[in-house]
Amino acid sequence: MNNQHYCFMACDSDYEGASIVIFGAPYDGTVSYRPGTRFAPSAIRNESFGIETYSPYLKKDLEDVKVFDAGDLEFGFGNTRKVIDEIRDMTAKIIANDKIPVMLGGEHLVTLGCIEAMAIKYPDLHIVHFDAHADLREEYLGERLSHACVLRRCHELLGDNRIFQFGIRSMTRDEDEFAETHTIQVKYSLEGLDNVIEQLKGRPIYVTLDLDVLDPAYFCGTGTPEPGGVSFMDLMKAVHKLNELTIVGADINELAPHYDQSGMSTITACKILRELVLTIK
Ligand code: MN
Ligand code: MN
Repeated sequence: MNNQHYCFMACDSDYEGASIVIFGAPYDGTVSYRPGTRFAPSAIRNESFGIETYSPYLKKDLEDVKVFDAGDLEFGFGNTRKVIDEIRDMTAKIIANDKIPVMLGGEHLVTLGCIEAMAIKYPDLHIVHFDAHADLREEYLGERLSHACVLRRCHELLGDNRIFQFGIRSMTRDEDEFAETHTIQVKYSLEGLDNVIEQLKGRPIYVTLDLDVLDPAYFCGTGTPEPGGVSFMDLMKAVHKLNELTIVGADINELAPHYDQSGMSTITACKILRELVLTIK
């Protein structure tokens, strides 16, 4: 890994001094429709220099917080389980040093690696999940390790009523029925987040942010765009509200930069990442 001249803007603290560690998981091996999320971490780092390090919303600056960008994990091809293991090991190292990992996907399956490590250190872990898709399939095209199944795999690790899903607007009938008794799911919007935050205060929280929760009007650079999503401001305000929670890890995922030739989706991801890091810190 090399972070000398290649990091998210202003995230150039040394590892020892950092409280947050960013790393990339550029994997898109199980995507069901259009690939390309493997290019997201490097695109986010490159384009981050186009926006400010200062957040006028939060009155905080990335220059003033200690964040280490560890670069990207390097994955081989064809062995999904090995990829997840590598993400789990990286996450385990970071949390063993009492730092907060913030992972850049990659497709959404990469979240499973983080949760496998997190669930050991934090037996009371809860997940706040933003997404257009429920990601609760038992299997997809015969594969249990797929981005369409990632929250179902997380449920197997954590159990009932530990996963809080927002913005969900695409699912199978089976997923819809599964969510009724096993997760807390808010469809179509981010309403009810305030109540959930009250409920989750003091517990260890992992935030997984599938950027396709945004309406494709704001964010078309993704593999499985789903009309009817939330606005950029809705999502940013939701991220800001998370500051009342004890966030022990987070990720953003499913940016596929090449599907948005204007580059706006990548800038949107950069801005959400800035706000997320400044909210955690
Ligand atoms: Mn997802
Ligand atoms: Mn999604």
